[in-house]
Amino acid sequence: MVPDLLTRKVNKFQIAAQLKQQGIYPYFRPLEMNYGTEVIISGRKVLMFGSNSYLGLTHHPKVKEAARFALEHYGSGCSGSRFLNGNSRLHEELEEELAEFTGKEAAIVFSTGYQTNLGVVATLTGRNDCILLDEMDHASIIEGARLSFSNLRKYGHNNMNDLEAQLQSSKCSHVKLIVSDGVFSMEGDIVKLKELVALAEKYHAMVMLDDAHSLGVLGKYGDGTAAHFNLTDKVDLIMGTFSKSLASLGGFVAGRADVINYLKHHARSLIFSASIPPAAAGAALGALRVLKNESERVTKLWENTWYMKYALKQMGFDLGKTETPIIPIFVRNDMLTFQFASKLLDEGIFVNPVVSPAVPADSSLIRLSLMATHTIEQMDIAIEKISSVAKQLGILAAPEISLYQ
Ligand code: PMP
Repeated sequence: MVPDLLTRKVNKFQIAAQLKQQGIYPYFRPLEMNYGTEVIISGRKVLMFGSNSYLGLTHHPKVKEAARFALEHYGSGCSGSRFLNGNSRLHEELEEELAEFTGKEAAIVFSTGYQTNLGVVATLTGRNDCILLDEMDHASIIEGARLSFSNLRKYGHNNMNDLEAQLQSSKCSHVKLIVSDGVFSMEGDIVKLKELVALAEKYHAMVMLDDAHSLGVLGKYGDGTAAHFNLTDKVDLIMGTFSKSLASLGGFVAGRADVINYLKHHARSLIFSASIPPAAAGAALGALRVLKNESERVTKLWENTWYMKYALKQMGFDLGKTETPIIPIFVRNDMLTFQFASKLLDEGIFVNPVVSPAVPADSSLIRLSLMATHTIEQMDIAIEKISSVAKQLGILAAPEISLYQ
């Protein structure tokens, strides 16, 4: 009998079953209700500290109204690719406003952020070209680089000496494209953009930033990493997603009009995939307008970030190099990380465990993401629960009890 290779392959994967058996499986948790900072899981109210909705706009009345308006006027789906029948005036309005917001000539909307990176990176580079990636860049950038068949070089995380060494030794006759996350999604640190663009100029490379976690977060108006560093003119392409601050689903890239036009007619993940539904485009447009008109939300997000970070640091947690509302608490042990996240959920706090291979095995962590809509009371509850569970698990040393107190 021919051995069933597929059965052998899938049966080798046991970790999910083991975690379920131990009652600490953390993935695909169904939310029964979602009210933003509060959700219902297994009939219980849980405080959400694991969402990417940094500005808390998924429940904003104007965003919901914009989605409803789009649904009413354009229907529930576009039934095709933007390239042919699936385009609408709404998608184009969104592109015009995104280009203006990011300070670029033009923008193009894809169906997800993942497809945006895949399409942009694979379309702009080819066999004789070179792509330089930070080793912590998002998976979709790496997939795009693989699809392009170009010479792929990874440099050490935010290590500009290594980037320079790679630029020096790369023998590219054509395009050199440096792609970096603006805010790194696992550990919350920010790209060293000043040094990166200086190297790009010196070695005649193009720069693309993934602003998935930067829009609505960095920059005075939440306008992203390049704006934060006042380097918009030095960054060729700014990519973003609607699935985080912009409270919807979809992605975009903004840049020079001729480059965007080329992408529009060549990016396969755009041309061969249906466009985002009207309600998603409407919600993203609504959220972008709220962001432009209510930039105090960005300020509130940062106030919350500082409050939480200060409290956790005071308690002695290892928060790594975070500079943003993404707050990692390093546990540095995969199993303990799963237990930490699971016990916190039992206590009514939702956080995300991040283990290998997403991070090296000695860097596993739980990740908290702050929202502008978290209240001080909610943060205080989370701080208290995180501290008590960490002590129970030995992640944080319990205070010594003096007999003479
Ligand atoms: N880039 C980064 C840095 C991300 O974190 C993500 C989402 N996790 C994406 C791209 C993909 O975006 P989307 O969810 O819209 O596909």
